[in-house]
Amino acid sequence: MLNKKNIRKLTELVGGEDYLVCTKIPLYTFSYDASQYFGNPDAVVFPTNTEMVSRILKYTKESGIRVVPRGAGTCLSGGAIASNGGIIIAMNKMNKILDINPANKTIFVEAGVTNKQIQNAVESHGLIYAPDPASMNVSTIGGNIAENAGGMRGVKYGCTKDHVLGIEVVLPSGEIIRTGQLMGHNDQIDLTYLLCGSEGTLGVVTKALLSLTPLNSDVVTMTAIFSDLGDAGQCVADIFASGVVPTTMEIMDNTLIRAVEDYTKLGLPKEAAALLLIEVDGYPSEVQGQVPKITEIFKKNNAVSYDIAKNENERQALWKARRSANGALGKLKPSMIVQDVVVPLDRLAMMLKNVSKIADKYGITIAQLAHAGDGNLHPHLLYDYRIPKDVEMVEHACDEIFREALAQGGTLSGEHGIGLEKIKYMPVAFNEASIKFMKSVKEAFDPDNLLNADKVLP
Ligand SMILES: Cc1cc2nc3c(=O)[nH]c(=O)nc-3n(C[C@H](O)[C@H](O)[C@H](O)COP(=O)(O)OP(=O)(O)OC[C@H]3O[C@@H](n4cnc5c(N)ncnc54)[C@H](O)[C@@H]3O)c2cc1C
Repeated sequence: MLNKKNIRKLTELVGGEDYLVCTKIPLYTFSYDASQYFGNPDAVVFPTNTEMVSRILKYTKESGIRVVPRGAGTCLSGGAIASNGGIIIAMNKMNKILDINPANKTIFVEAGVTNKQIQNAVESHGLIYAPDPASMNVSTIGGNIAENAGGMRGVKYGCTKDHVLGIEVVLPSGEIIRTGQLMGHNDQIDLTYLLCGSEGTLGVVTKALLSLTPLNSDVVTMTAIFSDLGDAGQCVADIFASGVVPTTMEIMDNTLIRAVEDYTKLGLPKEAAALLLIEVDGYPSEVQGQVPKITEIFKKNNAVSYDIAKNENERQALWKARRSANGALGKLKPSMIVQDVVVPLDRLAMMLKNVSKIADKYGITIAQLAHAGDGNLHPHLLYDYRIPKDVEMVEHACDEIFREALAQGGTLSGEHGIGLEKIKYMPVAFNEASIKFMKSVKEAFDPDNLLNADKVLP
């Protein structure tokens, strides 16, 4: 618990009461993220510049106060909540775009800028910022870096870490460091990769230099319908094996197709076992060469039918189906856990089928959505949090999904992070030496264990 003296000092450090929250009801709004976890912070501070973050962290270190960095709070693994009290450093007021350099294809931003702000700012230069998480309208670049966020374009363009050239970070000691291209020279141990995906456990990201990608001139969007979920999974593996690298490959299962159709009335086939959404982009000749290869693979994998969007309206309708997934499922049950495991592509078909079996075994509804091109499955487990049996069955199902993914040679998380949710599986996924080494890295950055202290590492 913070005392009055702590609150007075923090208020002074952020420049007044407008930049600090410490009363019950407003604090409640920071007690959750998009996961099923809760935790009340003792205060939330809103710094407006790096030096302020540095002064706050010097003070929290001196006073032994726990700290959780936070962006938009869309975290799906409990990483953005203060599970053991302390303060939240909310980065939302550090939301300036500092520089756009179309010639170098870079953008320099503060950490509280949203992904969408970046997309909007670079569009007129014929550029995109390639990582496009479904939460892009609100999630911040600091949160995207901390979670190494992926997105629909990840298959071809990679995840956040592939587009971060350098970051400015405030360490738990309050010291400010810069990494990668922000150091100004290349003869360094580049800490950028280490910090990307470290889930706010090593430092608070305050600024980032990001690389931009030219907007491709031609795009073709297509869908295929399958009467067997495994065939859709095999189709994805075969497309990769053929040498084609689509921008996007998303699989929706029957539960999801029905939910989306009831919600959007787009005319999706409610009887289909799976819908595969594929987009390819590039120069027109390159794209047009890929389309027949893909349709051949559809046929080989028993696609019932396939369709190619004939114009932008049709393309947007297909994307609407995909983007409506979360909202549509929200209508089915009061609670939902979105899981996030990854398996090698040649195990995708098997994993999709096994998740369906797990749903049957525990008598619960699991809607499956997969960033299939990355082998990244998002089983959406639907339940009613007021029914203890439901909660128990969902817990068993989650446990089995994690263990199944690991047994298939996969990993615990593709993009949502370990946070609080998957800590107990870390010793299953990693050997003792790896965990010991990760802990020694954490200790080097944060010897007092104050920053996001109870996350990621067991
Ligand atoms: C509907 C929905 C769709 C989603 N779709 C995707 C998707 O397609 N791809 C994907 O990858 N994720 C997705 N997510 C998960 C989430 O949006 C991402 O993890 C996102 O990167 C989190 O950003 P945020 O600003 O909300 O961060 P928060 O949720 O506030 O924080 C996330 C983590 O980052 C840390 N953190 C935040 N800011 C900083 C900072 N400045 N410095 C250091 N650490 C920091 C926090 O401590 C926490 O551990 C989705 C979530 C929802 C609710």
